[in-house]
Amino acid sequence: QTVLDIVAIRKDFPILNRKVNGKPLVYLDNAATSQTPQQVIDAIVDYYSNYNANIHRGVHTLSQEATDAYEQARIKVQKHFNAEKAHEIILTAGTTHGINIVANGFAAILQPGDEIMVSALEHHSNIVPWQMLCERTGAILKVIPMNLEGELVMAEFHKLLSDRTKLVFCNHVSNALGTVNPIEEIIDSAHKKGAAVLIDGAQAAPHIKADVQQLDVDFYVVSGHKMCGPTGVGMLYGKEAWLQKLPPYQGGGEMIAEVTFEKTTYADLPHKFEAGTPNICGGIAFGAALDYMNAIGFPAIAAYEDELLQYATEKLLAIEGLKIYGTAKEKTAVVSFNIEGIHPYDIGSILDKLGVAVRTGHHCAQPIMEFFKIPGTVRASFSFYNTKEEVDVLVAAVEKARAMLL
Ligand code: PMP
Repeated sequence: QTVLDIVAIRKDFPILNRKVNGKPLVYLDNAATSQTPQQVIDAIVDYYSNYNANIHRGVHTLSQEATDAYEQARIKVQKHFNAEKAHEIILTAGTTHGINIVANGFAAILQPGDEIMVSALEHHSNIVPWQMLCERTGAILKVIPMNLEGELVMAEFHKLLSDRTKLVFCNHVSNALGTVNPIEEIIDSAHKKGAAVLIDGAQAAPHIKADVQQLDVDFYVVSGHKMCGPTGVGMLYGKEAWLQKLPPYQGGGEMIAEVTFEKTTYADLPHKFEAGTPNICGGIAFGAALDYMNAIGFPAIAAYEDELLQYATEKLLAIEGLKIYGTAKEKTAVVSFNIEGIHPYDIGSILDKLGVAVRTGHHCAQPIMEFFKIPGTVRASFSFYNTKEEVDVLVAAVEKARAMLL
């Protein structure tokens, strides 16, 4: 049973008090974006009220305060993911941005005929940049298949892996199904063949505290907005040697050492990958979000969310005709489902009328939907501020939708 004080936690989230269509909001779209606690909102208001200034170049007090707070946030991110060095943390606009930085960098490394490998369980943002990279370089994209439970077929992964494989990328947790992938095995095996590994931690980060040194991963990317932070900020962790090897992604201010019209030299890490004025407030608020989640504690968060997952799975499966996609042994608190004979969008619309926010559709993972031969699913995704009572509201709403639509 949970050790979290859910009543106190819910008070931190002002949005949870609002009504939608006259009903209390039941927010179960956490895999799309999480809600923001007052502590993070306060950090944002404090920045704009008291020390809004551009960073890294001003001699004036406000600029120094903003620079200190931003670099302090970088260190919070470094400590959270246990990177060895602060300059291995690139503050990005989010997961998509981080992946594109690495994909662009590998254009300078890959040769025609080199192989790169993706999993069948990916979000489009961990597919499309790599296809663009293949077009640019002549590299070949291989796909690790999945099974009906929504797990990767690891025997196939080992068969596909070869001396030609230069890079493997997959998510730590699938946003569409919640599957936790065996990234340790993927990283170890890829390294034995000399391939680098990028892990998309966008969906893992709200539930699992990844230790990049223990994982020995080459790149790990996350979005702040999935873990109680604001949108438009995230992290790309890269091993120092890799970040030094990859060329910069964007050119501009802040990322240079010296500029003449003949030649420009680039700034040291992390600035080489942080062209232009960054999302200063977002970075600071991301740090505040990590403080907030760490004060609650990731083991307690994961245990409680698992309780919600088990409870919701059992109650939803009792509904006639309801099928859950993604039944992996290891999964986070995501339930992706359909009811036979009903389009997911129709269920989602009725749920919204009842105040229940879920996502419907392909969840930016069309290949997974194609695999199951479905147009999409209804996805309920839980966070540590959700309750069993809210799961009951969801289940009653789905039953009502079924009765109305069948
Ligand atoms: N990968 C996964 C697994 C995701 O869930 C998401 C967000 N849905 C992304 C990548 C993209 O993240 P963002 O849109 O924040 O860049």
